[in-house]
Amino acid sequence: MVDLKEELRLIREPILVELTEVIESGDYILGKKSEELEKLVAQYVGADYGIGVANGTDALQLSLMALDIGPGDEVITTPFTFFATAEAIEQVGAKPVFVDIEEETYNIDPAKIEAAITPHTKALIIVHLYGQVADMKEIMKIAKTHQLKVIEDACQAIGSECDGRRVGALGDIGCFSFFPSKNLGAFGDAGIVVTNQKELYEKVSKLRNHGSETKYQHSTIGMNSRLDELQAAILLVKLYYLDIFLHKRKEIARRYTEHLHHLFKTPSVQENREHTFHQYCIELDNRDELAAELNKKGIASAIYYPIPLHLQEAFQHLHYKEGDFPVAEKSAKRILALPMFPMLSFQKQDYIMSTVKRLMKNNG
Ligand SMILES: *Cc1c(COP(=O)(O)O)cnc(C)c1O
Repeated sequence: MVDLKEELRLIREPILVELTEVIESGDYILGKKSEELEKLVAQYVGADYGIGVANGTDALQLSLMALDIGPGDEVITTPFTFFATAEAIEQVGAKPVFVDIEEETYNIDPAKIEAAITPHTKALIIVHLYGQVADMKEIMKIAKTHQLKVIEDACQAIGSECDGRRVGALGDIGCFSFFPSKNLGAFGDAGIVVTNQKELYEKVSKLRNHGSETKYQHSTIGMNSRLDELQAAILLVKLYYLDIFLHKRKEIARRYTEHLHHLFKTPSVQENREHTFHQYCIELDNRDELAAELNKKGIASAIYYPIPLHLQEAFQHLHYKEGDFPVAEKSAKRILALPMFPMLSFQKQDYIMSTVKRLMKNNG
């Protein structure tokens, strides 16, 4: 699905320079590179503070912990996301409450949020799936009315803008993953929490480091979830290329849509809600057939995600059933991601598109 070799050719030299610097510095955890990355990513997304952590899942868990969310609390989120979004809610002892998605964007449907709010609801985790921004304007209104905290799971959406402001800094606290396949990817696990609130910044900084500000003094129970200095050094190089890479993703998406929109449902881009195309997902009846045929022609495709979270075995105790979230369930059966990465050449993309066109014609 993603070919990182071409990208590596471009960034290999500067990365080796950065890595050597770290190795020789002897500072391997939370050193100068991490600090610089925290500053630059916060600046990039328009937040006052950034706190480097071990991965995106921890970023979510630490955000919930910093907001004092735990047993007895409910957190509203989407069932159509990567497992980690709801896993983090369970990890702090709170209860995930799912709300169905919008057909057009695959993100949580604001019109359905209020019906899910109870006296126990403390927060919303808003996922910007595939790089497409959720309806933050409506969501923030609801959050304000009901005094709920907003955590953005922006793991797939670094750089996506909503009304000219980048995601991650639109709610109370934002989470990013630098998993290798993400739009800004490390060579291992890494993540960051961003916020404009000093109190949350201080809390997350402490929580990620065993609840300690001063060595061997622990004021609270935290985690070991620090940013690896080698990963930070790699990310500093890749951050430099991020806007170019996002631009290329959008250009590849534009070409896919131009040539394929008459064959099946292609991604919609909403006014004032950007899409940075972490994934380019189409929707069609005979999804599995097309995937199998593409595979025979040497073209990868993937399903994000085949099972909505409310139907996952791990969430059986929440007592949801098939039919509870029809849009998420329908999407899970029909969605298919086509190859999408910045270094995908137009020539290769043309081959993918002509193959898809031919297969669709054969299948009627
Ligand atoms: C990748 C991802 C995560 C988890 O990030 P990790 O760094 O893999 O822990 C969480 N939520 C979403 C939506 C993701 O895509």
